[in-house]
Amino acid sequence: MRISRAAVTIPIVVRASKEQFAEALDGATFAEVRRQGKYLLFPFQSGAVMVVHPMLTGRFQYCDPAEKRRAKTAFVLALDSGMELRYFDQRLMGKVYLARNEGDLSAVAPRWTEMGPDAMSPQLTEDLFVQRLRRYRGQVKNVLTKEQCVAGIGNAYADEVLWEAGVHPYRKLTELSDAALGGLYRAMRAVMEWAIPIVAGGMEADGLPDDHYRDHLRVHRKGGEPCPRCGSRVSEITAGQRITNFCRKCQAQ
Ligand SMILES: [Zn+2]
Repeated sequence: MRISRAAVTIPIVVRASKEQFAEALDGATFAEVRRQGKYLLFPFQSGAVMVVHPMLTGRFQYCDPAEKRRAKTAFVLALDSGMELRYFDQRLMGKVYLARNEGDLSAVAPRWTEMGPDAMSPQLTEDLFVQRLRRYRGQVKNVLTKEQCVAGIGNAYADEVLWEAGVHPYRKLTELSDAALGGLYRAMRAVMEWAIPIVAGGMEADGLPDDHYRDHLRVHRKGGEPCPRCGSRVSEITAGQRITNFCRKCQAQ
């Protein structure tokens, strides 16, 4: 797929000038899009790469050019097919970076080189996962959500993974055996494999994600409700602005 015309419509979101954006993307042909942690990578055949960090509210829209543009549309890519790929962000918190090539990403996207492997990466084996977690001390949930350790596990999914594995979120890493960390790895893969089709399917059926896009989660934001496994009440602890939910009975490990 080739871009016939690329235009920035809200400059604050795009960390490149309108001219640089148009110069790099006008006429560019997409290579294979992929995700790393919370970032979406759009490599082009020219070698250039666009990186989108959507944060909470950044969304893509693939539509007919005649469709009315949403108010917070940050860039528009007109495609040779006659369709448009648009990116909008209700809260304008996300960021879009442009690099000449993938080697240049560390220069444009802060902390890129420090990022750990993606949670779903085939390179992330159970052994490597355990090794990476062992580099850190502190509470297991904090480590699991560190992008430098493993990328792509946010606050909500960390709760789900820990519940699946039966591990208490505040347990110190030093108190967990390698076998327990191996269990955490398998829980992480199982949760992601279970959740991704649900979220993707929901978006395909209903369009953009709405307020219910996390309804399928089993413990996160379910404080006071029965644990789906044992029926005890799900605990809820708020620290800073982060909510942690877990089952005291199932997650005794
Ligand atoms: Zn339970």
